[in-house]
Amino acid sequence: MITTDYMLKALDASGGVKIVLAASTRLVEYARQRHNTSATASAALGRVLTAALLMTHDFKASSDVVSIRFTGDGPAGVIIATATGAGTVRGYVSNPQADLPATPSGKLDVGGLVGREGYVEVVKDIGLKQPFSGRVPLVSGEIAEDLVNYYMYSEQIPTLLALGVLVDVDLSVKSAGGLMVQALPGADEEVIAQIESQVLAGGNISSSLLEVDSLETLLQRIMGELDYQIIGKQDLEFCCTCNRERLQVILSSYSREEIEGLCDDNGIVEVTCNFCNEQYHYTPEQIIKAKKPQP
Ligand SMILES: [Zn+2]
Repeated sequence: MITTDYMLKALDASGGVKIVLAASTRLVEYARQRHNTSATASAALGRVLTAALLMTHDFKASSDVVSIRFTGDGPAGVIIATATGAGTVRGYVSNPQADLPATPSGKLDVGGLVGREGYVEVVKDIGLKQPFSGRVPLVSGEIAEDLVNYYMYSEQIPTLLALGVLVDVDLSVKSAGGLMVQALPGADEEVIAQIESQVLAGGNISSSLLEVDSLETLLQRIMGELDYQIIGKQDLEFCCTCNRERLQVILSSYSREEIEGLCDDNGIVEVTCNFCNEQYHYTPEQIIKAKKPQP
């Protein structure tokens, strides 16, 4: 078993094939606890969080950001994840309690929960003048297939993507992770075919992760006889950017009447962060005080 969340990046000997592996069990379990997600919603959100982190593999700066938004016609509603070049991610599903019966093959019905009609939108802000964005229709709502389709049509990069979240009987996340293989220009087709067959033979990525004690071992297993070099390793964590002071300043743009209108029966304004479900409580006086510049 792998005991920390991290991402491992490697290149094959020709330099044309990039392999990225992520272990994300802890951060997906943390997200499950924060959002109190159903089994299927944990799998859907966990896949999107892991995918967002994998998509940061070519970021140069820790401030580079990618956001993924799934808008399907299933009961989950919208699923959003935002990951940074620093290895942090945050995200949510708009209906965390939505759930569906397992598929006939006993799998969590992520495609049904997300929906098969709709679209996925990716926005990358890597410090250029304009953020890059692309939007493609959903293929299956199973997340990985939809993002492969995104890479093909929006970025013209052939991609192999596997995402897995294994939910235990007590609803906790037993294993979560992902694998992304991308062919760079001039990639050796033979190498890609060999990696692909190894990945398929290995079965579910979340199960494979339970069998190894490190991503390095899993990478070795996937690459087999092929030569490769590890080019990067990064810790991953769920981390929200919200904080009490910033929200207080945002609230202070309201008038006194509006602020009083936001109060509950006890005269307290409660604000919940979508991304991490953290609740903040303020008295109207605290908000109004934030209007004045600090001495
Ligand atoms: Zn937050």
